Amino acid sequence: MLKDIFECRKRLQATQVELDSLQSQLRVAEAVFQHTQPAMVTDARARIQRVNEEFCLLMGYRPEEMLGQTPRMFRSHHHDQAFYDQMVATIRATGHWAGEVWDRRKSGEIFPKWMSITAVPDATGEVTHMVACYTDLSGQKHAQQQIHQLAFYDVLTGLPNRTLLRERLQQAQTEAARHGRWGALLMLDWDDFKSLNDSMGHPQGDELLRHIATRLTATMPPDATVARLGGDEYAIVLPQLGHEQTWAATQAETLAERVRRALAAPCQVAGTDYQGSASQGLVLFAGRSPDADALLKQAELAMYQAKQAGRGLLHFFDDALERQLIDRMRMERALRTGIARDELLLHYQPQIALTDGAFRVMGAETLVRWQHPVRGLIGPGLFIPLAEETGLIGALGQWVLRAACEQLGHWRGQPGLDRLTLAVNVSAAQFLSPDFAAQVLAFLQEHGAPPERLKLELTESLLMDNTEGVIAAMTTLQAKGVRFSLDDFGTGYSSLQYLKRLPLYQLKIDQSFVHDLESDPNDAAIASAVAALARSLGLEVIAEGVETQAQQRMLAEMGCHVYQGYWFSRPLPPEAFETYCTTTGVAQLPTH
Ligand code: C2E
Ligand code: MG
Ligand code: MG
Repeated sequence: MLKDIFECRKRLQATQVELDSLQSQLRVAEAVFQHTQPAMVTDARARIQRVNEEFCLLMGYRPEEMLGQTPRMFRSHHHDQAFYDQMVATIRATGHWAGEVWDRRKSGEIFPKWMSITAVPDATGEVTHMVACYTDLSGQKHAQQQIHQLAFYDVLTGLPNRTLLRERLQQAQTEAARHGRWGALLMLDWDDFKSLNDSMGHPQGDELLRHIATRLTATMPPDATVARLGGDEYAIVLPQLGHEQTWAATQAETLAERVRRALAAPCQVAGTDYQGSASQGLVLFAGRSPDADALLKQAELAMYQAKQAGRGLLHFFDDALERQLIDRMRMERALRTGIARDELLLHYQPQIALTDGAFRVMGAETLVRWQHPVRGLIGPGLFIPLAEETGLIGALGQWVLRAACEQLGHWRGQPGLDRLTLAVNVSAAQFLSPDFAAQVLAFLQEHGAPPERLKLELTESLLMDNTEGVIAAMTTLQAKGVRFSLDDFGTGYSSLQYLKRLPLYQLKIDQSFVHDLESDPNDAAIASAVAALARSLGLEVIAEGVETQAQQRMLAEMGCHVYQGYWFSRPLPPEAFETYCTTTGVAQLPTH
Protein backbone atom coordinates (compact mmCIF):
# COMPACT_ATOMS: atom_id res chain seq x y z
CA MET A 1 0.00 0.00 0.00
CA LEU A 2 2.74 2.34 1.08
CA LYS A 3 4.51 1.37 -2.06
CA ASP A 4 1.43 2.34 -4.12
CA ILE A 5 1.18 5.71 -2.42
CA PHE A 6 4.84 6.32 -3.00
CA GLU A 7 4.42 5.32 -6.67
CA CYS A 8 1.41 7.63 -7.04
CA ARG A 9 3.30 10.58 -5.55
CA LYS A 10 6.16 9.96 -7.90
CA ARG A 11 3.83 9.99 -10.92
CA LEU A 12 2.12 13.11 -9.61
CA GLN A 13 5.45 14.82 -9.27
CA ALA A 14 6.34 13.84 -12.84
CA THR A 15 2.99 15.11 -14.11
CA GLN A 16 3.57 18.37 -12.24
CA VAL A 17 6.93 18.78 -13.94
CA GLU A 18 5.30 18.04 -17.28
CA LEU A 19 2.52 20.51 -16.50
CA ASP A 20 5.00 23.19 -15.53
CA SER A 21 6.85 22.65 -18.73
CA LEU A 22 3.64 22.77 -20.76
CA GLN A 23 2.56 25.94 -18.99
CA SER A 24 5.80 27.67 -19.70
CA GLN A 25 5.57 26.54 -23.33
CA LEU A 26 2.09 28.00 -23.43
CA ARG A 27 3.35 31.29 -22.08
CA VAL A 28 5.98 31.40 -24.78
CA ALA A 29 3.36 30.57 -27.41
CA GLU A 30 1.06 33.26 -26.02
CA ALA A 31 3.84 35.82 -26.12
CA VAL A 32 4.65 34.87 -29.66
CA PHE A 33 0.95 34.96 -30.60
CA GLN A 34 0.47 38.43 -29.14
CA HIS A 35 3.60 40.17 -30.22
CA THR A 36 4.42 38.99 -33.70
CA GLN A 37 2.50 39.39 -36.94
CA PRO A 38 -1.31 39.37 -37.15
CA ALA A 39 -2.63 35.93 -36.27
CA MET A 40 -5.94 34.12 -35.81
CA VAL A 41 -6.88 30.73 -34.37
CA THR A 42 -9.99 28.82 -35.47
CA ASP A 43 -11.40 25.49 -34.45
CA ALA A 44 -11.64 22.56 -36.81
CA ARG A 45 -14.88 23.96 -38.28
CA ALA A 46 -13.19 27.30 -38.99
CA ARG A 47 -14.91 29.23 -36.26
CA ILE A 48 -12.70 32.02 -35.01
CA GLN A 49 -11.60 31.33 -31.46
CA ARG A 50 -8.77 33.76 -30.92
CA VAL A 51 -7.33 36.78 -32.63
CA ASN A 52 -4.38 38.87 -31.58
CA GLU A 53 -4.14 42.62 -31.38
CA GLU A 54 -2.19 42.89 -34.61
CA PHE A 55 -4.96 41.04 -36.44
CA CYS A 56 -7.61 43.40 -35.03
CA LEU A 57 -5.57 46.35 -36.26
CA LEU A 58 -5.12 44.77 -39.68
CA MET A 59 -8.81 43.96 -40.23
CA GLY A 60 -10.33 46.90 -38.36
CA TYR A 61 -12.64 44.72 -36.20
CA ARG A 62 -12.78 44.36 -32.44
CA PRO A 63 -12.18 40.79 -31.15
CA GLU A 64 -15.81 40.27 -30.07
CA GLU A 65 -16.98 41.13 -33.60
CA MET A 66 -14.93 38.24 -34.98
CA LEU A 67 -15.03 35.51 -32.33
CA GLY A 68 -17.44 32.72 -33.25
CA GLN A 69 -17.58 33.89 -36.89
CA THR A 70 -15.74 32.21 -39.77
CA PRO A 71 -13.11 33.85 -41.94
CA ARG A 72 -15.74 34.06 -44.70
CA MET A 73 -16.57 37.43 -43.14
CA PHE A 74 -13.35 38.76 -44.68
CA ARG A 75 -13.96 37.47 -48.20
CA SER A 76 -13.61 40.11 -50.91
CA HIS A 77 -14.91 38.27 -53.97
CA HIS A 78 -11.47 38.87 -55.39
CA HIS A 79 -11.10 35.09 -55.49
CA ASP A 80 -13.63 32.54 -56.73
CA GLN A 81 -14.91 29.50 -54.81
CA ALA A 82 -12.40 27.24 -56.54
CA PHE A 83 -9.61 29.22 -54.90
CA TYR A 84 -10.95 28.54 -51.40
CA ASP A 85 -11.74 24.89 -52.23
CA GLN A 86 -8.17 24.46 -53.32
CA MET A 87 -6.95 26.05 -50.10
CA VAL A 88 -9.01 23.69 -47.93
CA ALA A 89 -7.95 20.67 -49.96
CA THR A 90 -4.29 21.58 -49.56
CA ILE A 91 -4.62 22.00 -45.80
CA ARG A 92 -6.33 18.63 -45.53
CA ALA A 93 -3.64 16.94 -47.53
CA THR A 94 -0.54 18.64 -46.14
CA GLY A 95 -1.63 20.41 -43.01
CA HIS A 96 -0.43 23.71 -44.45
CA TRP A 97 -1.25 26.42 -46.95
CA ALA A 98 0.42 29.72 -47.81
CA GLY A 99 -0.32 32.32 -50.44
CA GLU A 100 -1.59 35.75 -51.34
CA VAL A 101 -5.17 36.49 -50.32
CA TRP A 102 -7.20 39.60 -51.03
CA ASP A 103 -9.49 40.28 -48.07
CA ARG A 104 -11.92 42.99 -47.10
CA ARG A 105 -11.34 45.11 -44.00
CA LYS A 106 -14.23 46.34 -41.88
CA SER A 107 -13.95 49.65 -43.74
CA GLY A 108 -14.75 47.84 -47.00
CA GLU A 109 -11.25 48.31 -48.35
CA ILE A 110 -9.92 45.32 -50.22
CA PHE A 111 -6.24 44.64 -49.75
CA PRO A 112 -3.70 41.90 -50.39
CA LYS A 113 -2.05 39.98 -47.57
CA TRP A 114 0.21 37.02 -47.32
CA MET A 115 -1.47 34.25 -45.35
CA SER A 116 0.08 31.16 -43.85
CA ILE A 117 -2.29 28.53 -42.33
CA THR A 118 -1.21 25.58 -40.24
CA ALA A 119 -3.52 22.79 -39.04
CA VAL A 120 -2.90 21.76 -35.39
CA PRO A 121 -3.73 18.13 -34.53
CA ASP A 122 -4.31 16.74 -31.01
CA ALA A 123 -2.54 13.69 -29.60
CA THR A 124 -4.70 11.36 -31.66
CA GLY A 125 -3.88 13.14 -34.90
CA GLU A 126 -7.30 14.75 -35.24
CA VAL A 127 -7.19 18.39 -36.36
CA THR A 128 -8.61 20.52 -33.62
CA HIS A 129 -7.39 23.99 -34.55
CA MET A 130 -6.08 26.10 -37.38
CA VAL A 131 -3.55 28.89 -36.86
CA ALA A 132 -3.35 31.59 -39.52
CA CYS A 133 -0.60 34.22 -39.67
CA TYR A 134 -0.69 37.26 -41.94
CA THR A 135 1.55 39.83 -43.53
CA ASP A 136 -0.09 42.90 -44.96
CA LEU A 137 1.09 43.31 -48.53
CA SER A 138 -1.05 46.27 -49.51
CA GLY A 139 1.52 48.93 -48.74
CA GLN A 140 4.25 46.96 -50.42
CA LYS A 141 2.18 46.06 -53.47
CA HIS A 142 0.81 49.44 -54.02
CA ALA A 143 4.09 51.16 -53.55
CA GLN A 144 5.72 48.68 -55.87
CA GLN A 145 3.17 49.25 -58.60
CA GLN A 146 3.09 52.95 -58.17
CA ILE A 147 6.82 53.23 -58.08
CA HIS A 148 7.09 51.15 -61.20
CA GLN A 149 4.44 53.05 -63.10
CA LEU A 150 5.54 56.48 -62.02
CA ALA A 151 9.19 55.75 -62.24
CA PHE A 152 9.24 54.18 -65.66
CA TYR A 153 6.19 55.24 -67.65
CA ASP A 154 4.81 58.46 -68.97
CA VAL A 155 1.32 59.13 -67.63
CA LEU A 156 -0.05 60.78 -70.76
CA THR A 157 1.02 58.30 -73.43
CA GLY A 158 1.81 55.17 -71.45
CA LEU A 159 5.20 55.09 -73.16
CA PRO A 160 8.42 54.43 -71.23
CA ASN A 161 9.79 57.63 -69.74
CA ARG A 162 13.31 59.02 -69.65
CA THR A 163 14.40 56.77 -66.77
CA LEU A 164 13.32 53.57 -68.49
CA LEU A 165 14.72 54.75 -71.79
CA ARG A 166 18.06 55.42 -70.15
CA GLU A 167 18.02 51.94 -68.63
CA ARG A 168 17.17 50.35 -71.99
CA LEU A 169 19.84 52.42 -73.68
CA GLN A 170 22.41 51.16 -71.19
CA GLN A 171 21.27 47.60 -71.78
CA ALA A 172 21.49 48.09 -75.54
CA GLN A 173 25.00 49.51 -75.17
CA THR A 174 26.12 46.55 -73.08
CA GLU A 175 24.63 44.13 -75.60
CA ALA A 176 26.22 46.03 -78.47
CA ALA A 177 29.62 45.78 -76.80
CA ARG A 178 29.15 42.07 -76.09
CA HIS A 179 28.07 41.15 -79.61
CA GLY A 180 30.20 43.66 -81.50
CA ARG A 181 27.24 45.31 -83.12
CA TRP A 182 25.86 48.78 -83.65
CA GLY A 183 22.80 50.49 -82.33
CA ALA A 184 21.36 53.99 -82.55
CA LEU A 185 19.54 56.53 -80.47
CA LEU A 186 17.02 58.66 -82.29
CA MET A 187 15.58 61.73 -80.63
CA LEU A 188 12.75 63.79 -82.01
CA ASP A 189 10.93 66.93 -81.14
CA TRP A 190 7.69 68.18 -82.65
CA ASP A 191 8.12 71.36 -84.68
CA ASP A 192 5.99 74.21 -83.37
CA PHE A 193 4.24 72.26 -80.66
CA LYS A 194 4.02 75.32 -78.51
CA SER A 195 1.97 77.29 -81.02
CA LEU A 196 -0.43 74.35 -81.47
CA ASN A 197 -0.82 74.07 -77.72
CA ASP A 198 -1.41 77.80 -77.39
CA SER A 199 -3.84 78.07 -80.29
CA MET A 200 -5.86 74.88 -79.83
CA GLY A 201 -5.54 74.31 -76.11
CA HIS A 202 -3.79 71.82 -73.88
CA PRO A 203 -6.27 68.91 -74.22
CA GLN A 204 -5.75 69.04 -77.98
CA GLY A 205 -2.01 69.23 -77.44
CA ASP A 206 -2.27 66.09 -75.33
CA GLU A 207 -4.30 64.40 -78.05
CA LEU A 208 -1.55 65.11 -80.55
CA LEU A 209 1.11 63.80 -78.18
CA ARG A 210 -0.82 60.53 -77.89
CA HIS A 211 -1.16 60.36 -81.69
CA ILE A 212 2.58 60.75 -82.05
CA ALA A 213 3.17 58.00 -79.49
CA THR A 214 0.88 55.61 -81.35
CA ARG A 215 2.48 56.31 -84.70
CA LEU A 216 6.01 55.96 -83.41
CA THR A 217 5.23 52.66 -81.75
CA ALA A 218 3.59 51.36 -84.93
CA THR A 219 6.54 52.42 -87.09
CA MET A 220 9.40 50.97 -85.09
CA PRO A 221 10.69 47.38 -85.05
CA PRO A 222 9.55 45.32 -82.03
CA ASP A 223 12.95 45.44 -80.35
CA ALA A 224 12.98 49.24 -80.31
CA THR A 225 12.13 51.24 -77.18
CA VAL A 226 9.96 54.24 -77.94
CA ALA A 227 9.88 56.69 -75.05
CA ARG A 228 8.47 60.10 -74.27
CA LEU A 229 11.05 62.22 -72.54
CA GLY A 230 8.67 64.99 -71.64
CA GLY A 231 6.94 67.82 -73.47
CA ASP A 232 6.95 67.09 -77.19
CA GLU A 233 10.25 65.22 -77.02
CA TYR A 234 10.47 61.52 -77.82
CA ALA A 235 13.40 59.15 -78.08
CA ILE A 236 13.86 55.74 -79.64
CA VAL A 237 16.55 53.17 -78.88
CA LEU A 238 17.33 50.95 -81.85
CA PRO A 239 19.40 48.18 -80.30
CA GLN A 240 20.30 45.99 -83.26
CA LEU A 241 21.54 47.53 -86.46
CA GLY A 242 24.16 45.00 -87.51
CA HIS A 243 27.90 44.65 -87.21
CA GLU A 244 29.00 47.23 -89.71
CA GLN A 245 29.00 50.94 -88.99
CA THR A 246 28.06 52.12 -92.46
CA TRP A 247 25.25 49.61 -92.65
CA ALA A 248 24.01 50.65 -89.20
CA ALA A 249 24.01 54.29 -90.25
CA THR A 250 22.02 53.46 -93.38
CA GLN A 251 19.52 51.39 -91.39
CA ALA A 252 19.08 54.10 -88.80
CA GLU A 253 18.60 56.70 -91.48
CA THR A 254 15.99 54.53 -93.18
CA LEU A 255 14.07 54.15 -89.91
CA ALA A 256 14.29 57.88 -89.28
CA GLU A 257 12.87 58.45 -92.74
CA ARG A 258 10.05 56.05 -91.90
CA VAL A 259 9.33 58.08 -88.78
CA ARG A 260 9.33 61.27 -90.82
CA ARG A 261 6.79 59.85 -93.26
CA ALA A 262 4.58 58.40 -90.52
CA LEU A 263 4.48 61.72 -88.71
CA ALA A 264 3.93 63.71 -91.90
CA ALA A 265 0.53 62.09 -92.49
CA PRO A 266 -2.32 64.29 -91.21
CA CYS A 267 -4.05 63.30 -87.98
CA GLN A 268 -7.32 64.29 -86.33
CA VAL A 269 -6.87 66.79 -83.54
CA ALA A 270 -10.01 68.33 -82.08
CA GLY A 271 -12.03 67.02 -85.00
CA THR A 272 -9.91 68.69 -87.69
CA ASP A 273 -7.08 67.49 -89.89
CA TYR A 274 -3.79 68.55 -88.46
CA GLN A 275 -0.43 68.17 -90.16
CA GLY A 276 2.97 68.82 -88.67
CA SER A 277 6.52 67.55 -88.58
CA ALA A 278 9.27 66.61 -86.17
CA SER A 279 13.01 67.37 -86.16
CA GLN A 280 15.19 64.35 -85.55
CA GLY A 281 18.67 63.81 -84.13
CA LEU A 282 20.52 60.53 -84.53
CA VAL A 283 23.60 59.09 -82.88
CA LEU A 284 25.17 55.66 -83.33
CA PHE A 285 26.75 53.57 -80.57
CA ALA A 286 28.78 50.40 -80.49
CA GLY A 287 29.49 49.97 -76.79
CA ARG A 288 29.30 51.65 -73.43
CA SER A 289 31.37 54.63 -74.38
CA PRO A 290 30.21 57.33 -74.49
CA ASP A 291 27.77 56.53 -71.69
CA ALA A 292 23.98 56.73 -71.98
CA ASP A 293 23.80 60.30 -70.69
CA ALA A 294 26.42 61.51 -73.13
CA LEU A 295 24.61 59.76 -75.96
CA LEU A 296 21.35 61.42 -74.97
CA LYS A 297 23.11 64.77 -75.08
CA GLN A 298 24.62 64.03 -78.47
CA ALA A 299 21.28 62.99 -79.93
CA GLU A 300 19.69 66.08 -78.47
CA LEU A 301 22.37 68.29 -79.95
CA ALA A 302 21.86 66.71 -83.35
CA MET A 303 18.13 67.25 -83.00
CA TYR A 304 18.61 70.95 -82.26
CA GLN A 305 20.87 71.24 -85.26
CA ALA A 306 18.13 69.67 -87.36
CA LYS A 307 15.63 72.11 -85.95
CA GLN A 308 17.84 75.06 -86.76
CA ALA A 309 18.22 73.86 -90.32
CA GLY A 310 14.45 73.76 -90.93
CA ARG A 311 11.44 71.58 -90.25
CA GLY A 312 11.10 67.85 -90.51
CA LEU A 313 14.85 67.31 -90.94
CA LEU A 314 17.23 64.67 -89.64
CA HIS A 315 20.74 65.35 -88.37
CA PHE A 316 23.41 62.91 -87.36
CA PHE A 317 25.40 63.80 -84.28
CA ASP A 318 28.02 66.21 -85.47
CA ASP A 319 31.11 64.29 -84.50
CA ALA A 320 33.95 64.71 -86.99
CA LEU A 321 34.37 60.99 -87.47
CA GLU A 322 30.70 60.35 -87.73
CA ARG A 323 30.33 63.19 -90.17
CA GLN A 324 33.04 61.71 -92.31
CA LEU A 325 31.32 58.39 -92.26
CA ILE A 326 27.97 59.83 -93.16
CA ASP A 327 29.53 61.88 -95.94
CA ARG A 328 31.14 58.76 -97.25
CA MET A 329 27.91 56.82 -97.09
CA ARG A 330 26.00 59.54 -98.88
CA MET A 331 28.79 59.95 -101.38
CA GLU A 332 28.81 56.26 -102.18
CA ARG A 333 25.10 56.27 -102.74
CA ALA A 334 25.26 59.42 -104.83
CA LEU A 335 28.21 58.12 -106.87
CA ARG A 336 26.38 54.92 -107.63
CA THR A 337 23.42 56.80 -109.03
CA GLY A 338 25.73 59.41 -110.54
CA ILE A 339 27.48 56.82 -112.69
CA ALA A 340 24.13 55.45 -113.84
CA ARG A 341 22.86 58.96 -114.57
CA ASP A 342 25.93 59.91 -116.60
CA GLU A 343 27.07 62.60 -114.17
CA LEU A 344 30.73 61.78 -114.84
CA LEU A 345 32.73 63.68 -117.42
CA LEU A 346 36.27 63.67 -118.74
CA HIS A 347 38.72 66.52 -118.76
CA TYR A 348 41.80 66.34 -120.95
CA GLN A 349 45.19 67.56 -119.86
CA PRO A 350 47.49 68.08 -122.83
CA GLN A 351 50.68 66.04 -123.06
CA ILE A 352 53.28 68.05 -124.88
CA ALA A 353 56.30 66.90 -126.87
CA LEU A 354 59.32 69.06 -127.53
CA THR A 355 60.24 68.28 -131.13
CA ASP A 356 62.62 70.31 -133.23
CA GLY A 357 62.57 73.09 -130.65
CA ALA A 358 58.78 73.41 -130.68
CA PHE A 359 56.10 72.29 -128.24
CA ARG A 360 53.36 70.26 -129.87
CA VAL A 361 50.39 68.37 -128.45
CA MET A 362 50.89 64.64 -128.49
CA GLY A 363 47.69 63.76 -126.79
CA ALA A 364 46.09 64.08 -123.38
CA GLU A 365 45.58 62.35 -120.10
CA THR A 366 41.90 61.81 -119.40
CA LEU A 367 41.03 62.90 -115.87
CA VAL A 368 37.62 62.06 -114.64
CA ARG A 369 35.35 64.58 -112.89
CA TRP A 370 31.98 64.25 -111.30
CA GLN A 371 29.30 66.82 -111.91
CA HIS A 372 27.54 66.41 -108.57
CA PRO A 373 23.97 67.74 -108.69
CA VAL A 374 24.41 69.70 -105.44
CA ARG A 375 28.12 70.03 -104.78
CA GLY A 376 29.15 70.95 -108.28
CA LEU A 377 32.26 69.68 -110.05
CA ILE A 378 34.24 67.23 -107.89
CA GLY A 379 37.81 66.09 -108.56
CA PRO A 380 38.80 62.40 -108.62
CA GLY A 381 40.83 62.65 -105.40
CA LEU A 382 37.51 62.83 -103.53
CA PHE A 383 35.78 59.87 -105.08
CA ILE A 384 38.28 57.48 -106.74
CA PRO A 385 39.54 56.07 -103.40
CA LEU A 386 35.92 55.63 -102.30
CA ALA A 387 35.07 53.92 -105.58
CA GLU A 388 38.05 51.61 -105.10
CA GLU A 389 37.04 50.67 -101.57
CA THR A 390 33.41 50.05 -102.42
CA GLY A 391 33.90 48.20 -105.69
CA LEU A 392 32.29 51.00 -107.65
CA ILE A 393 35.60 51.41 -109.48
CA GLY A 394 34.55 48.64 -111.89
CA ALA A 395 31.56 50.58 -113.20
CA LEU A 396 33.39 53.89 -113.00
CA GLY A 397 36.43 52.58 -114.87
CA GLN A 398 34.23 51.12 -117.57
CA TRP A 399 32.50 54.43 -117.98
CA VAL A 400 35.85 56.24 -118.38
CA LEU A 401 37.24 53.71 -120.84
CA ARG A 402 34.12 53.77 -122.95
CA ALA A 403 34.09 57.58 -122.97
CA ALA A 404 37.79 57.69 -123.96
CA CYS A 405 37.22 55.18 -126.79
CA GLU A 406 34.22 57.17 -127.92
CA GLN A 407 36.39 60.32 -128.04
CA LEU A 408 39.12 58.56 -129.99
CA GLY A 409 36.50 57.24 -132.41
CA HIS A 410 35.14 60.75 -132.75
CA TRP A 411 38.58 62.21 -133.60
CA ARG A 412 39.23 59.56 -136.19
CA GLY A 413 39.47 61.08 -139.62
CA GLN A 414 39.73 64.64 -138.24
CA PRO A 415 43.02 66.12 -139.44
CA GLY A 416 45.47 66.66 -136.58
CA LEU A 417 43.12 65.30 -133.93
CA ASP A 418 43.39 61.81 -135.38
CA ARG A 419 47.04 61.70 -134.29
CA LEU A 420 46.24 62.34 -130.62
CA THR A 421 46.67 59.65 -128.02
CA LEU A 422 44.54 59.42 -124.90
CA ALA A 423 46.04 58.19 -121.63
CA VAL A 424 43.51 56.57 -119.33
CA ASN A 425 44.16 55.89 -115.64
CA VAL A 426 43.36 52.34 -114.63
CA SER A 427 42.99 51.24 -111.01
CA ALA A 428 44.43 47.97 -109.80
CA ALA A 429 41.04 46.46 -108.94
CA GLN A 430 39.79 47.35 -112.38
CA PHE A 431 42.79 45.97 -114.21
CA LEU A 432 42.77 42.72 -112.24
CA SER A 433 39.20 41.82 -113.16
CA PRO A 434 39.47 38.80 -115.49
CA ASP A 435 37.60 40.31 -118.41
CA PHE A 436 39.43 43.64 -118.38
CA ALA A 437 41.40 43.10 -121.62
CA ALA A 438 38.34 41.83 -123.48
CA GLN A 439 36.34 44.81 -122.29
CA VAL A 440 38.93 47.32 -123.51
CA LEU A 441 39.04 45.69 -126.91
CA ALA A 442 35.25 45.64 -127.09
CA PHE A 443 35.03 49.39 -126.33
CA LEU A 444 37.69 50.17 -128.94
CA GLN A 445 35.83 48.19 -131.51
CA GLU A 446 32.43 49.56 -130.57
CA HIS A 447 33.59 53.13 -131.20
CA GLY A 448 36.00 52.47 -134.05
CA ALA A 449 38.92 53.76 -131.99
CA PRO A 450 42.44 52.85 -133.14
CA PRO A 451 44.04 50.77 -130.32
CA GLU A 452 47.44 52.45 -130.80
CA ARG A 453 45.85 55.78 -129.76
CA LEU A 454 44.95 54.38 -126.37
CA LYS A 455 47.49 54.46 -123.57
CA LEU A 456 46.69 52.89 -120.22
CA GLU A 457 48.30 54.37 -117.11
CA LEU A 458 49.08 51.81 -114.45
CA THR A 459 50.65 52.30 -111.05
CA GLU A 460 53.45 50.33 -109.49
CA SER A 461 51.32 48.96 -106.68
CA LEU A 462 49.23 47.10 -109.23
CA LEU A 463 52.26 45.32 -110.57
CA MET A 464 53.32 44.05 -107.17
CA ASP A 465 50.02 42.32 -106.48
CA ASN A 466 49.70 39.89 -109.33
CA THR A 467 52.61 40.27 -111.69
CA GLU A 468 51.86 37.24 -113.85
CA GLY A 469 48.18 38.10 -114.36
CA VAL A 470 49.05 41.69 -115.10
CA ILE A 471 51.70 40.72 -117.65
CA ALA A 472 49.24 38.37 -119.38
CA ALA A 473 46.54 41.07 -119.70
CA MET A 474 49.09 43.66 -120.81
CA THR A 475 50.50 41.33 -123.44
CA THR A 476 47.04 40.61 -124.88
CA LEU A 477 46.29 44.31 -125.19
CA GLN A 478 49.76 45.22 -126.43
CA ALA A 479 49.40 42.68 -129.23
CA LYS A 480 46.42 44.74 -130.43
CA GLY A 481 48.41 47.99 -130.28
CA VAL A 482 47.37 49.37 -126.87
CA ARG A 483 50.26 51.05 -125.02
CA PHE A 484 51.14 51.31 -121.34
CA SER A 485 52.55 54.04 -119.18
CA LEU A 486 53.80 53.60 -115.61
CA ASP A 487 52.23 56.46 -113.61
CA ASP A 488 53.72 58.14 -110.55
CA PHE A 489 57.03 56.45 -111.20
CA GLY A 490 59.54 56.71 -108.39
CA THR A 491 56.97 56.82 -105.60
CA GLY A 492 56.58 53.05 -105.30
CA TYR A 493 58.95 50.12 -105.42
CA SER A 494 60.56 51.12 -108.72
CA SER A 495 61.87 47.62 -109.13
CA LEU A 496 64.06 47.09 -112.13
CA GLN A 497 63.16 43.45 -112.10
CA TYR A 498 59.59 43.90 -113.25
CA LEU A 499 60.35 46.97 -115.35
CA LYS A 500 62.29 44.71 -117.68
CA ARG A 501 59.51 42.14 -117.87
CA LEU A 502 56.59 44.45 -118.55
CA PRO A 503 55.55 45.50 -122.04
CA LEU A 504 55.75 49.19 -121.12
CA TYR A 505 55.90 52.10 -123.50
CA GLN A 506 56.40 55.01 -121.13
CA LEU A 507 57.60 55.98 -117.65
CA LYS A 508 55.95 58.94 -115.98
CA ILE A 509 58.16 60.91 -113.57
CA ASP A 510 55.95 61.65 -110.61
CA GLN A 511 55.05 65.27 -110.02
CA SER A 512 56.46 65.20 -106.50
CA PHE A 513 60.00 65.08 -107.98
CA VAL A 514 59.18 67.75 -110.54
CA HIS A 515 57.75 70.11 -107.97
CA ASP A 516 61.05 70.84 -106.18
CA LEU A 517 63.34 70.12 -109.10
CA GLU A 518 65.04 73.49 -108.85
CA SER A 519 65.50 73.58 -105.09
CA ASP A 520 66.00 69.97 -104.06
CA PRO A 521 69.10 68.27 -105.49
CA ASN A 522 67.72 64.92 -104.36
CA ASP A 523 64.60 65.29 -106.44
CA ALA A 524 66.67 66.44 -109.38
CA ALA A 525 68.88 63.37 -109.03
CA ILE A 526 65.85 61.05 -108.96
CA ALA A 527 64.20 62.70 -111.97
CA SER A 528 67.47 62.47 -113.85
CA ALA A 529 67.89 58.81 -112.89
CA VAL A 530 64.36 57.96 -114.05
CA ALA A 531 65.05 59.64 -117.40
CA ALA A 532 68.29 57.69 -117.77
CA LEU A 533 66.60 54.45 -116.77
CA ALA A 534 63.84 54.98 -119.34
CA ARG A 535 66.45 55.64 -122.03
CA SER A 536 68.37 52.53 -121.15
CA LEU A 537 65.20 50.43 -121.29
CA GLY A 538 64.14 52.03 -124.56
CA LEU A 539 61.09 53.65 -122.98
CA GLU A 540 59.64 57.09 -123.49
CA VAL A 541 59.76 59.35 -120.43
CA ILE A 542 57.17 61.98 -119.55
CA ALA A 543 57.23 64.39 -116.63
CA GLU A 544 53.96 65.32 -114.94
CA GLY A 545 53.25 68.39 -112.85
CA VAL A 546 55.44 70.74 -114.86
CA GLU A 547 54.51 74.19 -113.61
CA THR A 548 57.40 76.41 -114.67
CA GLN A 549 59.60 76.95 -117.66
CA ALA A 550 62.66 76.37 -115.47
CA GLN A 551 61.38 72.90 -114.60
CA GLN A 552 60.75 72.13 -118.25
CA ARG A 553 64.27 73.26 -119.16
CA MET A 554 65.92 71.17 -116.46
CA LEU A 555 63.90 68.16 -117.57
CA ALA A 556 64.93 68.72 -121.18
CA GLU A 557 68.57 68.77 -120.07
CA MET A 558 68.00 65.43 -118.35
CA GLY A 559 66.72 64.02 -121.61
CA CYS A 560 62.99 64.25 -120.85
CA HIS A 561 61.18 65.81 -123.80
CA VAL A 562 57.54 65.04 -123.08
CA TYR A 563 55.62 67.06 -120.49
CA GLN A 564 52.33 67.50 -118.78
CA GLY A 565 51.52 70.28 -116.34
CA TYR A 566 49.96 73.59 -115.59
CA TRP A 567 52.76 75.46 -117.33
CA PHE A 568 51.28 74.14 -120.57
CA SER A 569 47.68 73.71 -119.62
CA ARG A 570 45.33 72.65 -116.89
CA PRO A 571 42.99 69.74 -117.63
CA LEU A 572 40.40 71.04 -120.11
CA PRO A 573 36.87 70.14 -121.15
CA PRO A 574 36.81 68.43 -124.60
CA GLU A 575 36.02 71.51 -126.73
CA ALA A 576 38.63 73.65 -124.98
CA PHE A 577 41.16 70.88 -125.48
CA GLU A 578 40.41 70.71 -129.20
CA THR A 579 40.89 74.49 -129.43
CA TYR A 580 44.18 74.13 -127.55
CA CYS A 581 45.31 71.51 -130.08
CA THR A 582 44.45 73.80 -132.97
CA THR A 583 46.45 76.71 -131.53
CA THR A 584 49.42 74.70 -130.32
CA GLY A 585 49.58 72.20 -133.14
CA VAL A 586 49.63 68.44 -132.93
CA ALA A 587 52.97 66.64 -132.97
CA GLN A 588 53.94 64.54 -135.94
CA LEU A 589 55.36 61.63 -134.06
CA PRO A 590 55.94 58.22 -135.45
CA THR A 591 53.65 55.68 -133.81
CA HIS A 592 55.53 52.94 -132.04
P1 C2E B 1 47.40 61.28 -111.86
O1 C2E B 1 47.07 60.20 -112.81
O2 C2E B 1 48.78 61.33 -111.33
O3 C2E B 1 46.97 62.64 -112.55
C1 C2E B 1 47.67 63.79 -112.46
C2 C2E B 1 47.06 64.72 -111.48
O4 C2E B 1 47.91 65.83 -111.35
C3 C2E B 1 45.72 65.27 -111.97
O5 C2E B 1 44.94 65.50 -110.83
C4 C2E B 1 46.13 66.58 -112.58
O6 C2E B 1 45.08 67.54 -112.62
C5 C2E B 1 47.21 67.02 -111.64
N1 C2E B 1 48.15 67.93 -112.30
C6 C2E B 1 48.42 68.00 -113.60
N2 C2E B 1 49.35 68.97 -113.84
C7 C2E B 1 49.66 69.51 -112.65
C8 C2E B 1 50.56 70.54 -112.23
O7 C2E B 1 51.25 71.16 -113.01
N3 C2E B 1 50.64 70.80 -110.92
C9 C2E B 1 49.90 70.13 -110.01
N4 C2E B 1 50.00 70.43 -108.72
N5 C2E B 1 49.01 69.15 -110.35
C10 C2E B 1 48.92 68.84 -111.66
P2 C2E B 1 43.47 65.06 -110.77
O8 C2E B 1 42.76 65.33 -112.03
O9 C2E B 1 42.96 65.62 -109.51
O10 C2E B 1 43.61 63.51 -110.65
C11 C2E B 1 44.10 62.96 -109.50
C12 C2E B 1 44.29 61.48 -109.63
O11 C2E B 1 43.04 60.81 -109.79
C13 C2E B 1 45.06 61.06 -110.84
O12 C2E B 1 46.42 61.20 -110.61
C14 C2E B 1 44.65 59.62 -110.98
O13 C2E B 1 45.43 58.80 -110.16
C15 C2E B 1 43.24 59.62 -110.50
N6 C2E B 1 42.33 59.59 -111.64
C16 C2E B 1 41.90 60.59 -112.42
N7 C2E B 1 41.05 60.12 -113.36
C17 C2E B 1 40.96 58.78 -113.17
C18 C2E B 1 40.25 57.71 -113.83
O14 C2E B 1 39.56 57.90 -114.83
N8 C2E B 1 40.41 56.45 -113.34
C19 C2E B 1 41.21 56.22 -112.27
N9 C2E B 1 41.31 54.96 -111.83
N10 C2E B 1 41.89 57.17 -111.63
C20 C2E B 1 41.76 58.45 -112.08
MG1 MG C 1 47.69 59.44 -114.33
MG1 MG D 1 50.42 60.69 -111.77
